[in-house]
Amino acid sequence: MRISNTPIAARLAALGVELRPGVSLAEHTSLGIGGTTDELLIRRYETLPEVIRDLKNEGVPYKFLGGGTNVLVTDGELPWIVLHLPSTHPGVRVEGNAAFVDAAADLGGTVTYCAKRDLGGMEGLIGVPGSIGGALRMNAGAYGTQIGSYVREVELYRAASGENETLRGDDIRFDYRHTSFAPDDIMLRVKLELPPNPYQEIVAGIRVCNEKRRASQPLNQKSAGCIFKNPQGASAGRMIDELGLKKLRVGDAMISDRHANFFVNAGNATCDDMLRLVDDVRERVKKAFGFDLENEVIFWKN
Ligand SMILES: Cc1cc2nc3c(=O)[nH]c(=O)nc-3n(C[C@H](O)[C@H](O)[C@H](O)COP(=O)(O)OP(=O)(O)OC[C@H]3O[C@@H](n4cnc5c(N)ncnc54)[C@H](O)[C@@H]3O)c2cc1C
Repeated sequence: MRISNTPIAARLAALGVELRPGVSLAEHTSLGIGGTTDELLIRRYETLPEVIRDLKNEGVPYKFLGGGTNVLVTDGELPWIVLHLPSTHPGVRVEGNAAFVDAAADLGGTVTYCAKRDLGGMEGLIGVPGSIGGALRMNAGAYGTQIGSYVREVELYRAASGENETLRGDDIRFDYRHTSFAPDDIMLRVKLELPPNPYQEIVAGIRVCNEKRRASQPLNQKSAGCIFKNPQGASAGRMIDELGLKKLRVGDAMISDRHANFFVNAGNATCDDMLRLVDDVRERVKKAFGFDLENEVIFWKN
């Protein structure tokens, strides 16, 4: 969708929003799949309510993109624009045991920044790519850690009120790869409370998690991490592996030979290739084990 030569573009420019025309989402997602659309970079978070009000009034559909590491985007000219908060470095401020972090900050960078100030707890999240905002939305977790455990406050654009608000951590539910945020809430900043621990001990924990990740995941291939959530009491990856489906391929979409729940783009995979592979595997798992696998990756179809 193109809004470059419309009156809304001029109004957005006056608000300090940068419009990037014709951005390829294949270049902005870790799967390397996705079509083209205009992107808005929102530098001043306080302008978001006005930007979204204007988009809604003009009937311009939009989606919000963080680091692009957990989305599968459809191909071709996309029927919506993309909103994005440009990354801030480091985007973190520490006060006592609290870390105040911008949604656009890098998750791994935040873990390291806090570790250097003797604040730990998030060691398990070190290899999870993407932004803090994406991690909050997904309640990113690994090796027994989930970001939701440390959230004390979230500043966000609330779709319900059309304004920026602050929520207390106790008022937000963080479940396995699921949160109680509304689908079109946009996280802006978070206050995390982290347990103090000497840097050397935190680094030792980080090393262990890094090694586990390197040993089991195809980190040099294009993926979006685990494609399916694990059903209660079962492992999606183990079931797919037991069916002998590693390396199964539709076009250039392929099941990794290292981790059966990682589906990789082995060349020029299209969204359709990936969706056909996902559907095929879901059916086989249902037939063999009776589980309806739920997507962990967010699918942005038309
Ligand atoms: C190699 C690899 C390993 C991975 N390992 C793990 C793992 O161990 N554990 C794990 O949990 N995940 C893992 N992932 C998945 C992914 O990294 C996480 O889900 C990550 O938190 C997504 O963040 P993102 O910024 O890239 O989000 P995106 O992919 O950009 O977006 C994901 C969803 O979050 C929404 N979103 C993003 N930012 C915001 C915001 N500021 N406000 C509101 N909504 C927002 C988007 O609209 C979208 O719906 C892995 C991915 C890869 C590629």
